[in-house]
Amino acid sequence: MKIIHEIEKCIGCGSCVAVCPANWEIGDDSKAHLLGAKKGSVDGSEELETEQIGCSQDAADICPVQCIKIKK
Ligand code: SF4
Repeated sequence: MKIIHEIEKCIGCGSCVAVCPANWEIGDDSKAHLLGAKKGSVDGSEELETEQIGCSQDAADICPVQCIKIKK
């Protein structure tokens, strides 16, 4: 499975961090970042291959601009 975060769309609201602090943090750029992620294949994105989506599913569900995608 892959978690993709479209950073450019992120408004830095912090909801993902609130529901999933184990996997998400707000960076110096005031945008959320997925811990352990690498630069994504699309400009302005980051992604992480994982077998454990965990609370990042909640982060994807709560994100108001739907910039967290999970591909299974
Ligand atoms: S919930 Fe979405 S918009 Fe808000 S900080 Fe997280 S990724 Fe960014």
